[in-house]
Amino acid sequence: MLAEAQKKLQEVFGYPAFRGGQGKVVASLLAQQDTVAIMPTGAGKSLCYQLPALLADGMTLVVSPLIALMKDQVDGLPAHGVAATFLNSSLKAGELRERLEGIKNGRYKLVYVAPERLQAENFLEVACRVHISLVAVDEAHCVSQWGHDFRPSYRKIPLFLDKLPRRPVLGAFTATATPEVKEDIVRLLRLQRPHVIVTGFDRKNLFYAVLRGADKDEFLLNYLAAHRKQSGIVYAATREDVDRIAGLLQKNGLVCGRYHAGMRKAERSAAQDAFLRDELPVMVATNAFGMGIDKANVRFVIHYSIPQNLEAYYQEAGRAGRDGEAGECILLYHPRDKIVQQYLIEQTVFSPVRQRHELARLQLVVDYCHTAKCLRRTLLDYFGDGEGEEKCGNCSNCRNDGEVDDVTVDAQKILSCVWRLKERFGAAMVAQVLKGAGTKRIRQLRLDKVSTYGIMAEKSMAEIRDLIGFLTAEGYLRPTEGKYPLLKLGQKAAAVLKGHASVLMPARSRVQGGR
Ligand code: ADP
Ligand code: ZN
Repeated sequence: MLAEAQKKLQEVFGYPAFRGGQGKVVASLLAQQDTVAIMPTGAGKSLCYQLPALLADGMTLVVSPLIALMKDQVDGLPAHGVAATFLNSSLKAGELRERLEGIKNGRYKLVYVAPERLQAENFLEVACRVHISLVAVDEAHCVSQWGHDFRPSYRKIPLFLDKLPRRPVLGAFTATATPEVKEDIVRLLRLQRPHVIVTGFDRKNLFYAVLRGADKDEFLLNYLAAHRKQSGIVYAATREDVDRIAGLLQKNGLVCGRYHAGMRKAERSAAQDAFLRDELPVMVATNAFGMGIDKANVRFVIHYSIPQNLEAYYQEAGRAGRDGEAGECILLYHPRDKIVQQYLIEQTVFSPVRQRHELARLQLVVDYCHTAKCLRRTLLDYFGDGEGEEKCGNCSNCRNDGEVDDVTVDAQKILSCVWRLKERFGAAMVAQVLKGAGTKRIRQLRLDKVSTYGIMAEKSMAEIRDLIGFLTAEGYLRPTEGKYPLLKLGQKAAAVLKGHASVLMPARSRVQGGR
């Protein structure tokens, strides 16, 4: 069957071979398996249902959220050999009647519909009379409230399937790879033991780096001075940061534009156009910048502070190297960043459940900043894309290989302090106790009487906090969820405390000295 698919791929679509995981998805659907295909935008999802549609006996129904998209999709299909049409609210009554008639007479292999159409009486009547072999749900994340474009009518897709005389194979397609959305798709679309295929997320030409404890302004000025001719984006967390950073760059003779939602529309689009035309090499922006912008020659994306979650990070960083040439994605981290993002979450997310959820996702970004593992692997694992190596050789952690510090003793001090504090305090307090910071609150709580008080007095607060971040990212410590996370001992802690395991930390990534 797959050989036949390959033949059609060449004959009808004119492509020499499948790209990425396309073959797997096609094979799964042809084997009558419910399938969830998670592929980034541009990876070629449409082909994954168009091709099985051509090979199936009956008709394929594509549920798609956008009216405009439908016409484009149908128009984009090769003229020969693919009989396709769409039904949406832009059609006149006569045209609609004619197309429904066509469907009833088996004239089409592929029919695109908006989800609302599935509940229309006249459509349902026709659908029950023809053989539908496959239902492909495009933009399947619309079924989930966690996604950004929830569409209630997606929830009714299973009700439609129930009404059909024979349940077709179900394929769900999306570019959103977060675990919660994935679960929602499977549960709410009622997929039956689906084959979940996540593929194509790796961007091999991008170099990922995390920098902790650097002087951010100094780093930025040096980096931009060394990359003067190149196009790049600097993302900052707030409008104030954008204005300040842009001012700093300009004062230092660096040409840059500015973009955030607080600017007037005309000013914003002028900056954006100048950037797109390569008149402005660098854009300093909030995350409001970049949606729908496809600039091929962006050579670097620097995050001046951490984004809210890894998905946003991957999307923003992914604006580098669209042309396939090398691109650099650099994330600058300071513990303060987390507080800023926490505040932003509290200002924009109101349901307590969702807040907890967003804070947990934020913690994963903090972990990303402290991990010793391959950064690319960490990102791909987050999305569930199992392809690729354990060590990519093209991220700051992989390049640090070999240079490690043995921080076992420091780790033991920190872990035992967490234990002595009965796992009842957060990272900031643990660090203060270890440092021996004689604050009023510490004295009130009599934490200066704890045996681990001041045992890391010779280290700076920044170093202690950095070590705690590293131990958290690596699973020695486990923060609880919520706004004020408490530090608990993680699974790997016991072995270290007993002296059975040592803790190694990449040398160059460490924060040293400071206040
Ligand atoms: P998505 O829906 O995943 O964003 P599309 O289905 O629109 O992506 O496909 C993106 C582009 O890739 C299209 O121009 C399509 O023609 C092209 N494409 C898809 N599959 C292949 C392939 N196997 N070989 C070459 N080009 C492909
Ligand atoms: Zn790596």
